[in-house]
Amino acid sequence: MIQIFRTIPEFRNFRKNLPREMKVGFVPTMGALHEGHASLVSSSAKENDITISSVFVNPTQFGPKEDLSKYPRMLEKDAEILEKNGATVLFAPSTAEIYPESPSQIGFTIQSLGDKLCGASRPGHFNGVVQVVSLLFHIVRPDNAYFGEKDFQQLMIIRQLVAEQHFEVNIHGCPIVRESDGLAMSSRNLYLSAEERSQAVVLSQILFYLKEHYHQFKDADAVKSFVSEQISKKSVMRLDYFEILSEKGLKDIAVWENTEKPHAFIAAFCGNTRLIDNIPLFS
Ligand code: AMP
Repeated sequence: MIQIFRTIPEFRNFRKNLPREMKVGFVPTMGALHEGHASLVSSSAKENDITISSVFVNPTQFGPKEDLSKYPRMLEKDAEILEKNGATVLFAPSTAEIYPESPSQIGFTIQSLGDKLCGASRPGHFNGVVQVVSLLFHIVRPDNAYFGEKDFQQLMIIRQLVAEQHFEVNIHGCPIVRESDGLAMSSRNLYLSAEERSQAVVLSQILFYLKEHYHQFKDADAVKSFVSEQISKKSVMRLDYFEILSEKGLKDIAVWENTEKPHAFIAAFCGNTRLIDNIPLFS
């Protein structure tokens, strides 16, 4: 049976009794787990002696008008999925446990990686992510931690955090797990009505198309116009952003002669639900 800890002292007591030579893998999540999370957990279970996963809906990474209170919570089902995929421990602290004073942000410098894409659309979001991930790293002290490329920008920012703060942890990026029609799996897909769900697939369809055809467009601006046209023609979704950036450093790519590897990023509102996806444009 998976062991569940809800307080830091209980978890720490368990952690400090683990043999030093044991490799500890860690998969932080916000719960409402699906096969995307499960793939991270099974990678960790393969590569470590023990896998710890956390379920914590972190208030400091939600904006005031975002979905914190309605974010899906289903801890029992999450525990089953974790156990089935090889996790040994679930750390599921309360908000008061992680933020004993109050869940307010403390400042981190995220430099240029944090001010574009989701950083621009969701001010303070990555600050909150970095805050909670560094708290969790301090508590869990993993050797390896697993993050999904679904949140590509987040993965880059976590790598930067680890380098800057000298955390003794290896960060592993795991490929995006998709539904059979291509939609990237996300806990937020649970919000979609049947009609919205059928439209949401347009995002991955556009990305798959661009992977094959982007070099036929004159430049990145031409691709952007194509993408907004496709979104409005094929769906009632509202485009939040579409960008082509370098995979390394997330720098703007305007034309293809650039030696940087281009990576496409998209975010759109499907009804009230904000969906994100991304794809490397080179093979
Ligand atoms: P979340 O619960 O949304 O905070 O996600 C927890 C971790 O699971 C993050 O590292 C995500 O990038 C990863 N993740 C979420 N969805 C997917 C997916 N469809 N494929 C791969 N990883 C994912």
